[in-house]
Amino acid sequence: MNLILLSPEDITADGNATIRDPRRLRHLREVHRAAPGQHLTVGVAGGAMGRAELTALNDQQATFHCAPLTQTPPPALPVHLVLALPRPRMLARTLEHVTALGVKDITLLHTRRVEKSYWQSPELAAEKIRRHLVLGLEQARDTVLPEVTLRRGFRPFVEDVLPGLLSTRRGLVAHPGMANACPRGLREPAVLVVGPEGGFIDWEVERLLAAGCEGMHLGPRILRVETAVTALLSRLF
Ligand code: SAH
Repeated sequence: MNLILLSPEDITADGNATIRDPRRLRHLREVHRAAPGQHLTVGVAGGAMGRAELTALNDQQATFHCAPLTQTPPPALPVHLVLALPRPRMLARTLEHVTALGVKDITLLHTRRVEKSYWQSPELAAEKIRRHLVLGLEQARDTVLPEVTLRRGFRPFVEDVLPGLLSTRRGLVAHPGMANACPRGLREPAVLVVGPEGGFIDWEVERLLAAGCEGMHLGPRILRVETAVTALLSRLF
């Protein structure tokens, strides 16, 4: 936790803030070994960041006094990530990693090789998803939550939604065996499409290419979704 994320209503007019959730209190005590007088980085969800002094810490709450928050969060990656819905634990880790890397738009998509049962997972509840996004923001020192959209239909997404996204962005489908290698150092905004653990079926790749995406690969090694996404984003940007 490299940043303490506060909601605007957590901070009083004179700059005092209190947090009460057990996860962060434990982290402050056990990882930061925090003590009153220590300075930590804080940020307001969707807003500015700065330093705050821990004024008190006990089992119930931590209180801070915030200096004026003037620092802007780091720039976002200009990418809309379209991810075939991974199994719940992989989803949790992937959401955390891509949020830490600066992705702000995420679509979770159904494809043929996504198990239908994944869509019933309690991990897809908005509150659960938000928890993983917050972990990513705390890790990277960012305050801007990504927007996550669930799309349970592949064809409606590709036919009705993707063309709009591609009107202002370059579309890239990561698929082992494509002719071209993943480009490096993109200068334009992109839509990055990543498949499920079993990969895309041929028909899906054809539909994505027909919609205007370019196919590309990351070399002969088949990577897990969370590794592939991290490698793709760092290579693209
Ligand atoms: N068995 C599947 C691979 C699934 S890996 C297949 O052969 O297609 C899960 C997803 O990660 C893939 O759909 C792809 O989007 C991405 N990925 C993993 N390794 C990759 C590589 N070497 N090149 C391009 N994409 C890759």
